[in-house]
Amino acid sequence: MNVYDSARISDVLAVEGYKPTQHAKDADLVILNTCHIREKAVNKVYSELGRLKSIKKPEALIAVGGCVAQAEGIEISHRAPAVDFVFGPQNYHKLPSMLTRAIAQIGKKNKHQRIIETNFPAESKFEFLPNVTTSSSSAFLTIQEGCDKFCKFCVVPYTRGAEFSRLLEDVLKEAAILVNSGAKELILLGQNVNAYHGCKGGLSKLLQALAKIDGLKRVRYTTSHPSDFDSELIKAHGDIPKLMPFLHLPVQSGSDRILKNMNRRHTIRDYMELIENLRNVRPDISFSSDFIVGYPGETDKDFAATISLIKHVEFSQGYSFKFSKRPGTPAADMNKQVPEKIKDERLSCLQTLLHEKQTAFNKNSMGKTIPVLLDRYGKKANQLIGRTPHMQAVHLNCSSLKQTKKYLGKIISLGISATYTHSLTGHLETNSFNKRKSLKEYQPV
Ligand code: SAH
Ligand code: SF4
Repeated sequence: MNVYDSARISDVLAVEGYKPTQHAKDADLVILNTCHIREKAVNKVYSELGRLKSIKKPEALIAVGGCVAQAEGIEISHRAPAVDFVFGPQNYHKLPSMLTRAIAQIGKKNKHQRIIETNFPAESKFEFLPNVTTSSSSAFLTIQEGCDKFCKFCVVPYTRGAEFSRLLEDVLKEAAILVNSGAKELILLGQNVNAYHGCKGGLSKLLQALAKIDGLKRVRYTTSHPSDFDSELIKAHGDIPKLMPFLHLPVQSGSDRILKNMNRRHTIRDYMELIENLRNVRPDISFSSDFIVGYPGETDKDFAATISLIKHVEFSQGYSFKFSKRPGTPAADMNKQVPEKIKDERLSCLQTLLHEKQTAFNKNSMGKTIPVLLDRYGKKANQLIGRTPHMQAVHLNCSSLKQTKKYLGKIISLGISATYTHSLTGHLETNSFNKRKSLKEYQPV
């Protein structure tokens, strides 16, 4: 979501005459778009602010946006006085006026008339943002924001605010712009995308409408909450071929007791049933998930239940985190906090298992021919990276720069010649016509 938000911030700034630089040292304005979900993410913001102070141009402005800005507000300027302005995730449309105020203070000795925008405005920022731009063949599109679920560990309801869905017409208009700019795949974003209510019929109706867009080849959505799936949405997974057979479905824990203490609003049986129902309509669907280890009160038995769930579901990938106390959330002050050492052990055990599952899933692709959307350049010369329908990363080494340009942004069937934990290696399949020997090579006997 922050990648999408940063792109929208760039769109706003482009209207003001700004364009991106490669390096912070060349910039007139540096914005950190921040994440508050875990303490580690917050610590990174402060170390990055320290680093920026020493490399930026003397007169360059520094701003902090996103969820750390929302949660810490004025505190940021106290801890990092070099920061010129601070804005929360619902205030991107106010950037031009903040900039004008910040620029007016440049060079002034006592510059800090604090510039801070962290209210939840009555208006939606989306009504004021300029049209999107993209050069990517796989583009993000936020359709829903905020959250009313209040899981006891999570800051999102406090930093992003109440649940809000963009209207179907607005989403379709943005989708059309993205597809006309070259996007072949749209990834719909939201904290709980499947709670989308921007039209009658919810997410399944929106997916059906999007699937009708010519030129759009793939649709995905993330993140969804297990308790927000209705039967229409499950059915959509069987009915809409453009909806890719991969779903990120966070479960957090395999223990009902912990799920209840987290206020997750579903049981493990509900979760398993959902997976079963989705597999029934789309047998090739694969799943990933989020897991938290060391939630307050998590016992060895609770943790063993999470391990057992992972073994049972056979996730194709997964993200796992040590429980992090977030200020203001109920879980931060709960009794029976789990010692750091145990959290470390559980995290390492769980990640080893997730990696085993991912390696095995990827191994299954060996020797197959798979359509891959080649959406970006790789690190090596003449290399492209793409995604399979199941979201596996694939590296393709092309023979020349010309060839990379030919295939970038296209969906190409690749033969899979090697598999690893986090990626696959693909090669272009020469068809039988090309394999046939040239007649000129024929030697009469
Ligand atoms: N809305 C999504 C999750 C969004 S937050 C859902 O309900 O599934 C992304 C992930 O960050 C969560 O799934 C959770 O695994 C992790 N997370 C959130 N708060 C956390 C915390 N306090 N400590 C550790 N991990 C956390
Ligand atoms: Fe956070 Fe997701 Fe729970 Fe909302 S549903 S509170 S975003 S973990």
